[in-house]
Amino acid sequence: MRFNQTKIKMDFQDIVSHCKEYGFIYQSSEIYGSLSAVYDYGPYGVQLKNNIKEYWWRAMVQAHENIVGLDSSIFMHPQVWVASGHVAAFNDPMIDNKDSKKRYRADHLIEEFYVGKQESKIEKEVEKAKKRFGDAFDEAQFRSTNPRVLEAQVKIDEALRRMNEVMNNNDLEAFKALIDELEIVCPVSGTRNWTEVRQFNLMFSTQGGGSVGDDVLYLRPETAQGIFVNFLNVVNTSRQKIPFGIAQIGKAFRNEIVARQFIFRMREFEQMEMQFFVRPGTEMEWYNHWKEKRMNWHRAVIGDNSTHRYHNHEKLAHYANAALDIEFNFPFGFRELEGIHSRTDFDLTAHQKLSGKKLQYFDPELKESYVPYVVETSVGCDRMFLAILSHALQEDIIPNADGEDATRKVLRIHPALAPVKCAVLPLVKKDEALTKVARDIFDRLKYSFECQYDEKDAIGRRYRRQDAIGTPYCITIDEQTAIDGTVTIRERDTTKQERVAIEAVEKIVAERIDMRTLLRTL
Ligand code: ATP
Repeated sequence: MRFNQTKIKMDFQDIVSHCKEYGFIYQSSEIYGSLSAVYDYGPYGVQLKNNIKEYWWRAMVQAHENIVGLDSSIFMHPQVWVASGHVAAFNDPMIDNKDSKKRYRADHLIEEFYVGKQESKIEKEVEKAKKRFGDAFDEAQFRSTNPRVLEAQVKIDEALRRMNEVMNNNDLEAFKALIDELEIVCPVSGTRNWTEVRQFNLMFSTQGGGSVGDDVLYLRPETAQGIFVNFLNVVNTSRQKIPFGIAQIGKAFRNEIVARQFIFRMREFEQMEMQFFVRPGTEMEWYNHWKEKRMNWHRAVIGDNSTHRYHNHEKLAHYANAALDIEFNFPFGFRELEGIHSRTDFDLTAHQKLSGKKLQYFDPELKESYVPYVVETSVGCDRMFLAILSHALQEDIIPNADGEDATRKVLRIHPALAPVKCAVLPLVKKDEALTKVARDIFDRLKYSFECQYDEKDAIGRRYRRQDAIGTPYCITIDEQTAIDGTVTIRERDTTKQERVAIEAVEKIVAERIDMRTLLRTL
C-alpha cells in the first residue's frame, strides 16, 4: 500500500481544539462561562496524564534505590511559607496599560515585546540572506558578522542585562523607566500609557480555623516544601543514607498575573518534584548528573536535539547557587518545561531556624552532622502533557478505502504513554459470529491494558477515531478470522497491518506498549 508520509505539524489553535473535541481537556466550569486558567482533564486526558505520572514515578522512584516517595498535604503550617521566603518574595512584577486595562508581567513585556521584536528582526535578516546566497550561505558566519544582526543582538543583551539588574535590586521605579525607555507599546491599545510597576504575591490564601487559629492558610505554590518539612521523618523511617532523594507528585497553586497559553500557565497545576539531599560541596556534581538524566527522560519520549535545550539562569532565586531550565520548543517558541535547581542548604536551614528543630543529618562515614545541600528537579505534569500533544499531533495524507488521498489527524504519542493502547474492531457489525470473537478478545485484553471495543461506522472511520486519540494498535476481526483464527494488527504510525493468530495478540501488544522497555533505555 502506498503511504504518503506528508506530516503537517498543527498550530497551537489546532492543538487546543483537538484537546476539546476528543475529550482530553475542557475549560473549568464551562457551563458558567469558565474559570480563567483552570482546566479539567477529560477521559483521554486523565489517561495520558496518569501515564505521564507513572512514567516519572517509575523512572525516578522505582528505578532508583536511593529515591523514595512522599505525598504531603496541600495545606501546611503558615510558618512554612514564611521560612521558605514565599510570603516575602514569591512575587511577580506587574504593570497595567491604562487604556486597554490589560495587565502584564513586567518582565514578560520586555521579553515578548522588545526582545521578541529584536529576535524576529534577526530571523528576517537571516531568511533574506538565505534566499540571496542560496547553497553557499554560511548561517553561523552571517549571524556572527552581519552588522544589523549584531546591532539587534547588542540591544537584546543590553535590555536583558538591565532587566535582570532592576529585578535583582527590586527597583520598581527603574523597571518602569526601562519599559518607557524601550518604548514598549501595549499590543491591544497601541499606547505607552502604563501604570507604575507593582509586586504581586502569587500565593492563594484562605482562612484557617481550629488548631491554627485564625491564621491565613496558603494553598501550596510548590510541592517542594512538603518534602523539606518531612526530611527528618523520612531519614528516621526509610533507612536512606545521603545521597538520597524524596519525590512527590501533587497539585500546586499560583495566582498567575497573566495566564494565557492554555495549560502552559495555569492557576492550579500539578508538579512532579524530586529533592536530592547531598553532602555540602558535592552539589555541582549532582546538579550536572540530574541535568543529564532529566534531559534523557524527556528525549526518550518526545523529540530530539532540536526540540529541547538547556537555559542557564542569569538571575538566581534567593535559594539557589545554580539553576537551569530544560526548555521545549512549544508552538509559541522555546519555554521552560522543567527546572533544575541547586538549592544549597537554604530551605532546611530556614526551617531549622524558624521551627527551632534541628534538621541535620549524621553522616556515618564522615562521623559528623550537617545540614545537607539539595538539588531539585521540578517538572510540570501539565506542561509535559502540552509538550507531548504539541509534538505528537500531526496531519498525514494517506489513501482512503477508494485509494484516494485523504487527510487524517494522528497523535503519534509514544505507545507506553498512549491513553488507549489497543482497539478491538470487528469488520462488520452484523456478523454475530465475528462480533462474538471480537468481544472475547476484548474481554481478555482489557485486564492487561486500556482497550476499546468499537463496532460502529465503517472501519476507515473507526481507524481515524483511534488515530486521533493516539491508539497505537487496532485489532481487526474479519472473514479470515472465521476460517483460520487469525486477526490483523494495524500499527498507527505506518498504518501497516500484519496478520497474527488470536492467541498471539495479547503478547505482541503487551511487548510493544511495555513501559519497562522505555525505562531500560534511560
Ligand atoms: P515560569 O518561569 O514559567 O513561571 P517557574 O520558573 O516559576 O516557571 P518553577 O517554580 O521552577 O517554575 O516550577 C517548576 C515547574 O512547574 C515548571 O518548570 C513548570 O513546568 C511547572 N509550572 C510552574 N508554574 C506553572 C503554571 N502556572 N502552570 C503550569 N505549570 C507550571
